[in-house]
Amino acid sequence: MKVAIRDDDTSFFTDPARLDHVYHDVWDRVPICLAVVPHAMGFADKAIPERYWQANRPHPLEDNGALVARLRALVEDGKVTIAQHGFTHEDFSDGYEFQAAPDLESRLARGQAYLEQVLATRIRIFVPPHNALSKRGLQAVSAAGLNLLGSFLSFRPSLRPWELRTAANWWRVRAYRSTTNRGKSDRLIYPHVLRYTRHAEFGCHGLIPGTTLEQLVAAFEEARRAGGHFCLATHYWEVDDAMKDVLRRFLDHAARTPDVRFVAAERLFDAE
Ligand SMILES: [Zn+2]
Repeated sequence: MKVAIRDDDTSFFTDPARLDHVYHDVWDRVPICLAVVPHAMGFADKAIPERYWQANRPHPLEDNGALVARLRALVEDGKVTIAQHGFTHEDFSDGYEFQAAPDLESRLARGQAYLEQVLATRIRIFVPPHNALSKRGLQAVSAAGLNLLGSFLSFRPSLRPWELRTAANWWRVRAYRSTTNRGKSDRLIYPHVLRYTRHAEFGCHGLIPGTTLEQLVAAFEEARRAGGHFCLATHYWEVDDAMKDVLRRFLDHAARTPDVRFVAAERLFDAE
């Protein structure tokens, strides 16, 4: 069983000391997949320092030299891997970035190339801001050959570009829903990779304020019983002492479980 961690929202606005504070004793156990915003927009948001709330312009990652230097070192040490998290992470009046932006294909391509160049690494994973992706957004991610980490990806075939595997995957998720006694609207994180022609998808379990150790352990044990894998998704900017304690105790639980391997999130998509 593979267990990975994803952390969203590292951007120009991130103080590298904050990442060190949260993960200094975690990334030696399990590499953190940082989902990074290439050109983060300054606007009123909990993840952004207040002095940038009126900025209303995108801030390229490299304008934070201390962060870029730290990320490059962490990548080199194998403590973090880098995923792409949107392009500006801005909200539009009619949806989140990868639902509503008019130029999704170019945002995807420019963001990937930018992160690869600035951080001297390869990008294999896309994380949509707010886990929200339109049909066109999904098409663009698939065409780019990037794998998707989501939290609650919709499997309604009407929201997906059609391909042969859509139907088979829909049936697999449906069968899992029924064997776990879930109704149509009950929350479900499918614990296996769903493979499509050009990309693959995997759902993560959120660690947010209020998430308990018992909830995470129950979700982990369900995935284990199903012969699946587990990815935890969180935000460094809201990890306080209580959340950190939940994270640490969850990792202790996973580490005590036979056959668990802590891996970088990219490894979730490897052929078994
Ligand atoms: Zn985000």
